[in-house]
Amino acid sequence: MLGQRYPQIGDHRLARTGLIGDSGPVGDSGTADDDHRLSWPAAVGDLLLGARCLACLRPWWGLCPRCRGALRARTARLTSPTPCPDGFPITATAGDYDLPMRRLIVAHKERQALALAPVLGELLAVACWHLLRSRDDGLPAGSLTLVPVPSARAAVRGRGYDATTTLARRAAARLRPAVAVRVRRLLRHGRSVHDQAGLDAAARRRNLADSLRVRDVASTRATAATAGPGPVIIVDDLVTTGATLAEADRALTAAGITVLGAATIAATRKLHAN
Ligand SMILES: [Zn+2]
Repeated sequence: MLGQRYPQIGDHRLARTGLIGDSGPVGDSGTADDDHRLSWPAAVGDLLLGARCLACLRPWWGLCPRCRGALRARTARLTSPTPCPDGFPITATAGDYDLPMRRLIVAHKERQALALAPVLGELLAVACWHLLRSRDDGLPAGSLTLVPVPSARAAVRGRGYDATTTLARRAAARLRPAVAVRVRRLLRHGRSVHDQAGLDAAARRRNLADSLRVRDVASTRATAATAGPGPVIIVDDLVTTGATLAEADRALTAAGITVLGAATIAATRKLHAN
């Protein structure tokens, strides 16, 4: 039934979603086998700009047809870390955190490659949709809220760009034909945390323990009786040790908010499918 309501994303793949296969700001509409079509953009890009595909680094602008094909072949799945931290929510991801995906996420987050936002937002939408479909009780009644995991404040200041919220808004726009969905930045850091990059699992848990708060809990609770935030999905670019998603789930649940689960663009290889 869900697939009938939203068939493009309902098949868990990107091939029919339209966006990644379309021509647009992130590259050509060719297929992975169209190598002859690489010639003129590759040559011009190399000559004028030194441009490289953001995923494979071959000469191209944006995202080359071969990498588009690889993204198209990704299949969303449920995932959990090993070891799995206490309180880790049910989590769907759009694929592995392999080298091309790492380049795309880093290019978007660290170098503000804004042209990647539609592609990565689409992947996040696919993960959200997979999470919703994996639930026995189907789509939630009423509106759904995507809650981005907040970046460490120093990281956002340094970048001047809230990458996760941007992708959440893209994902919400893609999901909206099927479900009433909005994005709310309900979570904030209650104290300063270090950037998680480079920390091992134990250090991440210590860094994040009891670190997140729900913004303005009183008014959130007051409105919960009326409009309220409704059920939420926690969204993030990546799941590694699961410490961040577990902490986000803890904070939201403690504020009386119903967490359906979490969705990410990618999951590290240490994780395995359920
Ligand atoms: Zn490529």
